[in-house]
Amino acid sequence: MSEPQSQPVWRFAPSPNGLLHLGHAYSALRNFEGARRSGGRFLLRIEDIDVVRSRPEYEAAIYEDLAWLGLEWETPVRRQSEHLGEYALAVDGLRNRGVVYPCFCTRGEIARGVEGKKDWPRDPDGAPLYPGTCKRMKREQREAFLLAGRHAAMRLDMPDACAGLEQTLGWREFGEGEERRDVRAEPQVWGDVIVARRDVPTSYHLAVVIDDALQGVTDVARGMDLFHATSVHRLLQALLDLPQPNYRHHRLILDDDGGKLSKSKGSATLRDLRAEGATPTDIRRMVGLA
Ligand code: GLU
Repeated sequence: MSEPQSQPVWRFAPSPNGLLHLGHAYSALRNFEGARRSGGRFLLRIEDIDVVRSRPEYEAAIYEDLAWLGLEWETPVRRQSEHLGEYALAVDGLRNRGVVYPCFCTRGEIARGVEGKKDWPRDPDGAPLYPGTCKRMKREQREAFLLAGRHAAMRLDMPDACAGLEQTLGWREFGEGEERRDVRAEPQVWGDVIVARRDVPTSYHLAVVIDDALQGVTDVARGMDLFHATSVHRLLQALLDLPQPNYRHHRLILDDDGGKLSKSKGSATLRDLRAEGATPTDIRRMVGLA
């Protein structure tokens, strides 16, 4: 007898730190339609761990814009800020495995540490790799800092974390289509990534893999800009014994100069387009989904 096939679960996971633009619309529609075509469920998740940039009015705008586009999602919606305790437990799990260490460095200190080192390696997003200052810190000093109440971020000890793996990591990539390609994960290119920030007991990478697992997500359609981050996600899934979804990294919607749409560049938001008279059908056409 064949195993009963469980229902596919797709999700769109925006961060409420600005208004949605066409890139978000494309991602949301890809997930919504993927769910519909596969007879699956569609979830919306609010990724609001960034306490400084997340705003309730942006979250409200997400619901409004997606409903206007014709999307329907299950409720209650998972909001990451309500699950910090679950992420903290996962960080404890990583600590017990001995693959994380506290880091007291500020961004400025790290920048100064690599200043003038022209060939210093950078991660796929262009940020200099962490130079390992706190990894080399003497145990007594680390304990003294912690006792004095100094806040620390937690970093993954990348070489140790990778060394403990039983097999090479990869993921199932479907891109825009249905053809599967096996991609080899290369988490080392990110260096000692932060898994828990100083201000919240998680990071984007950690929260996303925990939520995808807890919500039973089987298919993740998201922009190509997160393609390389998937290597870190696969490593965390392996370390925390979490299942891996199928990944579908899709093209980015570019502005007229061929650049990425972004909040900071003031790219037109769905709200602006709607105010100018665009319909949901126009939006689908503008993102190439006519
Ligand atoms: N919250 C992320 C963003 O808005 C997306 C996370 C994901 O899809 O994995 O960029």
